[in-house]
Amino acid sequence: MNTTLKKIGSILAILVLLPIIAVITFEIANLTENEKRIGEIYENQLKTILFSLNQYSEDFISSWMSQIRIAVADESPISESSNIYNKLLAENRALEGIALIGFDKNEAPNYLTLNSDKDSNNFVNNFLRIIDSNRIKIDKLRRMVDAGYNKIEPLGEIIETGKSMLVSIINDKYICGFSVNSEIFIKENLSQKIQQITQENFVIACTRGSTENIIYSTGQFNFKNENSSLALWLFPEYKISIQLKGETISILAKNRLFNSIFILIVLTLVLIAGLFFVFRIIKKEVKLAQIKSDFVSNVSHELRTPLALISMYSETLEMGRINSDEKRNEYYKIISNETNRLSRIVNSILNFSKIEAGKRKYSFEKSDLNDIVTEALSSYEHQLKNEGFICRLNVDKELPLISADKEALSEAIINLIDNSIKYSTDKKQIDIITGIDKKYIFVEVIDYGVGISNEDQEKIFDKFFRVTSGQVHNTKGTGLGLSLVKHIVEAHDGNIVLKSKIGSGSSFRLNFPK
Ligand code: ADP
Repeated sequence: MNTTLKKIGSILAILVLLPIIAVITFEIANLTENEKRIGEIYENQLKTILFSLNQYSEDFISSWMSQIRIAVADESPISESSNIYNKLLAENRALEGIALIGFDKNEAPNYLTLNSDKDSNNFVNNFLRIIDSNRIKIDKLRRMVDAGYNKIEPLGEIIETGKSMLVSIINDKYICGFSVNSEIFIKENLSQKIQQITQENFVIACTRGSTENIIYSTGQFNFKNENSSLALWLFPEYKISIQLKGETISILAKNRLFNSIFILIVLTLVLIAGLFFVFRIIKKEVKLAQIKSDFVSNVSHELRTPLALISMYSETLEMGRINSDEKRNEYYKIISNETNRLSRIVNSILNFSKIEAGKRKYSFEKSDLNDIVTEALSSYEHQLKNEGFICRLNVDKELPLISADKEALSEAIINLIDNSIKYSTDKKQIDIITGIDKKYIFVEVIDYGVGISNEDQEKIFDKFFRVTSGQVHNTKGTGLGLSLVKHIVEAHDGNIVLKSKIGSGSSFRLNFPK
């Protein structure tokens, strides 16, 4: 049986555990790679958000340029009192100056307009200087317009820090320059878009240069934590940075990795536990099959022995060869004893099947335990004498009556006496005691036979269980006797106390409530 189980165990392990281990190793290896990729994707998404902010700034300034384009188209020549210029300047605090200049550098600026409280000469001179020193870029812008793309180009800071000169080609005659206060633009125009994007998830900060000089931020920005940043296209002196609120991407990725590994480990443990239970069920089934086959062989043997004796002695008697009355009586006695033994075996099997089906009924009546014990023992008298046993019966004459099913109790005591005979060795002695203690009225059957190991003492009351080692191995039985005794005693609200030592013998005490 053990080799079969080992084989089943190994096959289960190979079929289930190996693929599990392979899958788990593969998954763990893949997880790190996946988490890295997720990190990259996330990083790209953050970059896209920053890109969209740049796009927004460009669209915003483009809308100003478009209005200039309309004004130039409408009013030719355009005047400083033009509504569009004044409206643009009035509505946008960040826009501090507008300049228009013809392409021909020898020509004086055609039209110029300025924020009223600024030094206009200074602004114009700066504008002319910037245009002059960026001729190549201006030519490039013109070519781009020819190709259908109207670009705004930041041509550096003018007058003072924080003021950018943004230039674009208006039409085939004019270049337009805006003097924009970068920080006001960031704080008043770009900030609205930033807030719309960040919501609850991100912190976005705008800094000047490479320093951590924060111009605008949607919350506490920790530059030590991982973040993604991009220079503003139109204000290259400024940088926008974005980071996740709370945990960083790598911490999130790490947490995800740990969670995934944890789930994998739990799943593996569940699978191993499942495997263990499947194996236990198979083991139980194999054991049950073994028990069934042992039971059939044991019962056959148990039945065959008395049948053979009955047949032999009855044939001898039938042939009339026995002359002495004494011998004939002895043979009759043997036949009667063996018939009793046979009916005991059949009864215990029938009773067992009744118990299993839940159909065993007990009828209780006031009974004298001493009478039941004496009667049970008398049915063994002949066998005990024949096999050379000394049986000492020590009854307590003062024993009160108990409520009991006489037949069932007698069956239990007979089973104990039968076992004492079967499992006795050299010292053929059985003591039977009845008595009363603080709690119980009891009967105790003591033998001095093979004894039962501590380990087996827990199992012998299980149905079909038989000790399969040592001397006991040669003694046949069904393995049902003690499970019947237990059932009967418990039906009487009693209990069994077993004391036994290997090689010294055993005592079974049946306790019944007073
Ligand atoms: P059976 O005697 O038919 O095998 P039981 O249920 O009566 O079945 O007993 C179960 C097992 O307990 C026996 O196989 C035997 O190993 C052990 N056993 C029972 N009574 C004794 C005893 N008095 N001494 C030693 N072993 C015993």
